[in-house]
Amino acid sequence: MSQKKLTSASGIPYYNNEDTQSAGPRGPLLLQDFILHEKMAHFNRERIPERVVHAKGSGAFGTFTVTNDISRYTRAKLFSHVGKQTRVLVRFSTVGGEKGSADTERDPRGFAVKFYTEDGNWDLVGNNTPIFFLKDPKKFSDFIHTQKRDPYTNCKSPTMMWDYWSLNPESLHQVLFLMSDRGTPVGYRYMNGYGSHTFSMINDRHERVWVKFHFKSAQGIRNFSNEEAAKMKAVDMDFAQRDLLEAIDRGEFPKWNLKIQVMTEEQAKTYKWNPFDLTKVWSHKDFPLIDVGVMELNENPKNYFVSIEQSAFAPAHVVDGIGYSPDKMLQGRLLSYPDAHRYRLGANYEQIPVNRCPFAVNNYERDGQMRVDENGGSAPNYFPNSFDDINADPSYKQPAWELDSVVADWYDRNAEGENDHYTQPGIFYREVLPAQDKANLVNTIVGAMSGISGPKKAEIINRQLCHFFRADIGLGMAIAQGLGLDMASLQQHMPAGKHEQVTI
Ligand code: NDP
Repeated sequence: MSQKKLTSASGIPYYNNEDTQSAGPRGPLLLQDFILHEKMAHFNRERIPERVVHAKGSGAFGTFTVTNDISRYTRAKLFSHVGKQTRVLVRFSTVGGEKGSADTERDPRGFAVKFYTEDGNWDLVGNNTPIFFLKDPKKFSDFIHTQKRDPYTNCKSPTMMWDYWSLNPESLHQVLFLMSDRGTPVGYRYMNGYGSHTFSMINDRHERVWVKFHFKSAQGIRNFSNEEAAKMKAVDMDFAQRDLLEAIDRGEFPKWNLKIQVMTEEQAKTYKWNPFDLTKVWSHKDFPLIDVGVMELNENPKNYFVSIEQSAFAPAHVVDGIGYSPDKMLQGRLLSYPDAHRYRLGANYEQIPVNRCPFAVNNYERDGQMRVDENGGSAPNYFPNSFDDINADPSYKQPAWELDSVVADWYDRNAEGENDHYTQPGIFYREVLPAQDKANLVNTIVGAMSGISGPKKAEIINRQLCHFFRADIGLGMAIAQGLGLDMASLQQHMPAGKHEQVTI
């Protein structure tokens, strides 16, 4: 091994990294020991702001390979032909906990994919659930506060969580997913990922369809029971990080099969649910899954901070052939993600190597803190100009959107057709979950709701129970029973018919 000289950050060799210069062996330290200042000052600045959500995460690089031709839906170059490969970075995460929190907490999991395509970086920033707690981004900060720490106790608070959920019935579907066994996946390899939002695809004939993205784990689904998750938390807080890293180091490369659902613009106008509502799925029976390709993670990052902590994903980053939709949560995230990155990493976050497009980047953005690329060199920094040959290419234009309203307003989220928060959760409970999963779901909800305390306890429990009853009377009854509530009096107030949707 060749010898390397110890140097300061500016490359100046020095000979003592452990003793500070002092006035005599026992005297005070000398201000002139610059290396001491450099070490202390840099150490004080080692932490960058942690992500306000999704702070604890793990990631790896890999490849995406097309296995089925979907070019009739999209002209995106990464899908241009079977066999085409694109490099990817994936970051998985928990949502509510801080950077040091346990990987096995009951929480949705983030599932963010960066495709380094020749038309720029495409970020598909999803979760391990196809839905979310909310359908309007104005609610997001309030909701997240309930998942974080109570301002007085500085502890997590089941009271805050259930108070909020009970006052926001649109969250019910995702609450059931969270409380189901999939709320505690065995690490990151054994869970699915979903783009969650509705996006669009545009083909070379300039035609648009609406799409949902699904990554199905080729390893299968595996979940921890509540007891296993709690035990693992005590044994290894970083279980999911270690599991992913070690699997890749062993050459067991995890894979996910990417599939899409496709809905035409015409179908969207008449579908029984608002196809842009993030609290709802598109039934597989109505819109079957179409194969697209395989994603394999096969390369651990050499340095966690460089490639994972500094990675920045933004739903706004879509490439030609893929577009947005009127999904309100997506529209909100188009702004909030780049804004969060500018706060966390700075205005030039896209020049950090893991975020940098490996293909051409030509624009007129210049300067700013930590500009570490060539900053456009001596080329013009304004557009249009008479000197460079950078052109805005009209072939990248997307077809115009036909809007169904020209009236801007604060629409009632519970307006006719928008307030069915119960049918899909009911189908999920009745038709998707096997008997054991149903029992586990009820036990987990009972355990979680048992933590509700304080003067509003009865009010919060009753309000939330109403939502469970509306989804499925059997579910409501089982939870009420588990909470030790008076079944006779509850039954008296229940409408006839075991599973009908209750209108209150
Ligand atoms: P299907 O019976 O065709 O699909 C149900 C889907 O549920 C499965 O394909 C599977 O999708 C998913 N699933 C299975 N077990 C669980 C579980 N324990 N926890 C969470 N998801 C599970 O019916 P529909 O498509 O008509 O959907 C029926 C209900 O299923 C929906 O109301 C929704 O609650 C739930 N669901 C639907 C999804 C969709 O995109 N249509 C996706 C996930 C759940 P997967 O392998 O993708 O997880």
